Amino acid sequence: MNPPPGYQAPGLFATTLDKVVGLARSKSIWPLPFATSCCGIEFMATMGAHYDLGRFGSERLSFSPRQADLLMVMGTIAKKMAPVVQQVYEQMAEPRWVLAVGACASSGGIFDTYSVLQGIDRVVPVDVYVPGCPPRPEQIIEGFMKIQELVENEPLRRRYSPEYKELLTRYGIIKS
Ligand code: SF4
Repeated sequence: MNPPPGYQAPGLFATTLDKVVGLARSKSIWPLPFATSCCGIEFMATMGAHYDLGRFGSERLSFSPRQADLLMVMGTIAKKMAPVVQQVYEQMAEPRWVLAVGACASSGGIFDTYSVLQGIDRVVPVDVYVPGCPPRPEQIIEGFMKIQELVENEPLRRRYSPEYKELLTRYGIIKS
């Protein structure tokens, strides 16, 4: 693991608080797996010994939204299930991130039907989309590493910005 950019001299290293917090957060993400169908099986493989998401500091899955940083949605989301996805997101503490795993979570996939939500970004803001039906564990890990990049580089004040509040207001997560 590389140290964050900063000022170095013999016996001295100085950097900013943003960078230290970002580094710590990105290497200790607690995911909440919201798995409804086949993509969830790929996630099980991703957690197994061969791929081992624990190598990224994320072997501790959180089945309580209140103790999770990353919502991983894997599988087909029926429209009836959409309010549940949003409620789970609302119960997560800030800062929180969302990974849409696979074609169904990203866009409804092959299920262009009356009953299937055509992408979870209809109900929650998504940070990274993983393509594939199903995506292989390598793709899930790549998506996870993109999330780590975002986490590491996010300014501490982003969640207090008017743009972020406007985004949540558009989703109806913050009432205007
Ligand atoms: S994207 Fe494909 S593999 Fe994943 S849940 Fe949808 S149908 Fe199943």
